[in-house]
Amino acid sequence: MTVHPTSPLPPDRSEADTILLIENAAFFTRILKQRLLAETPFRVVAVASRTAAAAALAREGKQIFLALTNLVLPDASDGEVVEMLIGHHIPCIVFTGHVSEELRARILQLPIIDYVSKRHDSCVDYLTTLINHLHRNRRYQALIVDDSPTARSHFGTILSRMMFRVLEADSGDAATRMIKLHSGTIRVVLVDYAMEDVDGVEWVREARHITKADETAIIGISGTGSPALAAAFLKNGASDYVAKNALREEILVRILLNLDRLHYIEELKHAAAHDFLTGLHNRRYFYPEAERLYANAVREGIPLAVAMIDIDHFKKINDTHGHHAGDMVLKQLAIILQRRLRDSDLLARFGGEEFCLLAMGVERQDAAALFEQIRRQVADSVIDTGTNEIRITISIGVCCGPADGLERMVSLADDCLYQAKRDGRNRICCDGG
Ligand code: GH3
Ligand code: MG
Ligand code: MG
Repeated sequence: MTVHPTSPLPPDRSEADTILLIENAAFFTRILKQRLLAETPFRVVAVASRTAAAAALAREGKQIFLALTNLVLPDASDGEVVEMLIGHHIPCIVFTGHVSEELRARILQLPIIDYVSKRHDSCVDYLTTLINHLHRNRRYQALIVDDSPTARSHFGTILSRMMFRVLEADSGDAATRMIKLHSGTIRVVLVDYAMEDVDGVEWVREARHITKADETAIIGISGTGSPALAAAFLKNGASDYVAKNALREEILVRILLNLDRLHYIEELKHAAAHDFLTGLHNRRYFYPEAERLYANAVREGIPLAVAMIDIDHFKKINDTHGHHAGDMVLKQLAIILQRRLRDSDLLARFGGEEFCLLAMGVERQDAAALFEQIRRQVADSVIDTGTNEIRITISIGVCCGPADGLERMVSLADDCLYQAKRDGRNRICCDGG
């Protein structure tokens, strides 16, 4: 096995959608492929030899996001397949059955993303998590802040193998400017302690005014080996700390753990603001956001309307076709309503089969026609649940604003909705008109 110098990743794998899995053990291939297909957004091309891998490389070309390969194959017993992949600039993750210390050291010299021992079942979990991070990292940037070009190059290589677009700053000042410039897309920052213009701990304290710990992982790094530094970094807002001479493997895993944390926080925030069934915003998200839009509309003199939308006799749909069909109806209605949205509008599932739409820029004289169109579109749609074709109707109560506040508008729209129900359903009712 030849050790290659660091080879740069090809510039763009942002659209690549295929994982090349190279493994001759059929059982492991089956398990891993199933998990990858179920839990990552990639398609998987599985081959069992170096020769087949070469053919797949020629065939799939740029579509390959990365290769997952066994180090040892029947027709390549000394890591030749890894050499071939690196030669083609394919990012790779290597797995092996048995890893001796000597082999581990040799693998770590290679310009690969990571290596994983196949001996424990948990390796499949690790691989799927890693691949999902790499997939997401394509959207983000990582920043390395260090006045030493050698350190920037060392950490920059690790970060670019993790599929980040890597930014470099050689001073605290330059780093602060970059954080401001790329706000929201810098996911990870590695920051040195000893820099000429500022010490890293001080820099983290300042940077935390611009980017919070639930948006960006800031990891302190240092070559001094002082045991007090880790605590100083962490107490001043760093997410983690790692010694500069740590194994590449430790650095990678620490970054991954920090990415895990950011991702879980994001998922929690998303779950707290969205309805699980339809993916629409929920009522909890709706109110503060709607209040903001409302205040803005009042300030700018923009007309607005609130519509309460409710499916007619939805209970009967559940009773006749079952709850699953009822769920499909809710999802389909959400899609129909979403298609009608403009960027400035806000739609939420308030609960059950009731939706609330805040529509901006709607004049009183146009409101009835707009919501009548939506009502008709729903009445004309056929919802295919797979086993049934279901037709539904909706009733809509509309309040044109600004009235006396958003809550008042919602309450008036609700009154109108009940009037529409009383008047026979499948109709709209507008307040005062
Ligand atoms: P109306 O025309 O007066 O609105 O009658 P309705 O039957 O639509 O209204 P009602 O409030 O009596 O019933 C609402 C039904 O919605 C009852 C409840 O089981 C059902 N429902 C609420 N949430 C869900 C859900 O997430 N999925 C499904 N399938 N049904 C739901
Ligand atoms: Mg209903
Ligand atoms: Mg209801």
